[in-house]
Amino acid sequence: MNTSQKTTLVWLREDLRLEDNPALSHAASRGAVLPIYFYPDGMGAASHWWLHHSLKALQSRFDSAGAPLLLLDGDPATKIPEIAEQTGADLVVWNRVYSPAGIESGKKLKQRLGDIQVNTQSFNANLLIEPSKILTKQETPFKVFTPFWRQCQQHIEPQNVLPAPESLTGATHDLITKALDDWDLLPSQPNWAIGFDEVWQPGEQGAASRWTTFLESTVDKYKDGRDLPAKQFTSMLSPHLTFGEISVRQLWLEMQEAMATGEVSSDNGSKFLAEIGWREFSRYLLFHFPSIESEPFNDKFEDFPWQSPESHLTAWQQGKTGYPIVDAGMRELWRTGYMHNRVRMICASFLTKHLLIHWQNGADWFWDTLVDADLANNTASWQWVAGCGADAAPYFRIFNPVLQGEKFDKQGDYVRRWVPELANLPDKYLHQPWAAKQDVLMDANVVLGKDYPKPIVDHSTARQAALDAYEQIKSS
Ligand SMILES: Cc1cc2nc3c(=O)[nH]c(=O)nc-3n(C[C@H](O)[C@H](O)[C@H](O)COP(=O)(O)OP(=O)(O)OC[C@H]3O[C@@H](n4cnc5c(N)ncnc54)[C@H](O)[C@@H]3O)c2cc1C
Repeated sequence: MNTSQKTTLVWLREDLRLEDNPALSHAASRGAVLPIYFYPDGMGAASHWWLHHSLKALQSRFDSAGAPLLLLDGDPATKIPEIAEQTGADLVVWNRVYSPAGIESGKKLKQRLGDIQVNTQSFNANLLIEPSKILTKQETPFKVFTPFWRQCQQHIEPQNVLPAPESLTGATHDLITKALDDWDLLPSQPNWAIGFDEVWQPGEQGAASRWTTFLESTVDKYKDGRDLPAKQFTSMLSPHLTFGEISVRQLWLEMQEAMATGEVSSDNGSKFLAEIGWREFSRYLLFHFPSIESEPFNDKFEDFPWQSPESHLTAWQQGKTGYPIVDAGMRELWRTGYMHNRVRMICASFLTKHLLIHWQNGADWFWDTLVDADLANNTASWQWVAGCGADAAPYFRIFNPVLQGEKFDKQGDYVRRWVPELANLPDKYLHQPWAAKQDVLMDANVVLGKDYPKPIVDHSTARQAALDAYEQIKSS
């Protein structure tokens, strides 16, 4: 058979790109290609916004390359075998997804295609190294980041980045694609995503431009600046990575090269790569311990006396806790679909420790509001902050939101940006407006309890309550 006649179906999921896409490159090397994307269940509202724009960009890339993208509803395990039969495709390829649901759907599809004698082939496009390849000497999964990352770095094999296929031969078929607009992924009334456009450009091009800016300028300030939320000293690549618009292997190789040539200092480059390492670790944990999606990694926390005051949860979600750094973070999240990592830690700590609200409530809110919502990173990070995760921050280390604000937002630029009603307060009181005398508040046009809330809990009392709650499970 003439190889150019072969048709390959490419099932896309967390790899919305043409560059360094091994499944797509393999398909392209065999002949005709039909790329397919299925409506994903369970995504949050902010991710839907991102997905819409990302798919639009991807459609345009595939159209230009010559193989239009097919958008479909339904279960891939049922639909793809039907399409293989209709198109005469002899192979279905995809890049592996390592979440429990991702693994399950891959297995199911493989089995159904096996039943009708259609071959399958899957690839790693999403990780530097696959979770099954890294184990301790005792052949058990790592539970601590540092030795995990040390071993990963020894095993990552340098690879080349696969170029995007310049042109593709589209498969002949009479299938009808779902119109992207019919998926109704964008908010309308109200359009809460208005601020997203100012910050983000979903799609491969947006990802590439963030990466170039970071590599050519921002990375120099990464190690010392990555904790300062008022500045943009981090890469802002997280949603692009979540949707697979840029390859993590490309980031790894190009950063290694920049460090080797001295363009990037090894301090800054290694720190960035270690964060990529945390992304790998999150996926690794979810792969080896799938129950962490809903249960604490440290089972002592199963009996933790979580509380559920609805009004506190709402105040936290709306950025009205009375703690400016927490409120700034929650409002940044609402307005942009993103929150700086340092502030994510402060807000998550406040919810789980000051308010004693279950980390899952916080993870659910983040899931709905983050454009980078990612099951592995979100779950592992929430558990880490709450003290019940792998290699977690000890529960008894409770962030003081005032000191965190004063340390990481010293001039108050971040709080002033997101909590403008406090903008005229002197720096000294910006992170604790309740400590300001009445005349200072008046000068700044702030009436506490009216223009800005009084703190919903007292820090010292809340801290003690958290420590008491922890004592209950520590001794159980
Ligand atoms: C409570 C909480 C929830 C979080 N939820 C998510 C989430 O849903 N999705 C998500 O991508 N990240 C999540 N993070 C991790 C982190 O905050 C973001 O990845 C980071 O802020 C993204 O900004 P950046 O791309 O500029 O990061 P950079 O500092 O430039 O880092 C580069 C990349 O490394 C990865 N990374 C960085 N920090 C972490 C981390 N702590 N854990 C895992 N990977 C990391 C991300 O892919 C990131 O894009 C969460 C953190 C906390 C504390």
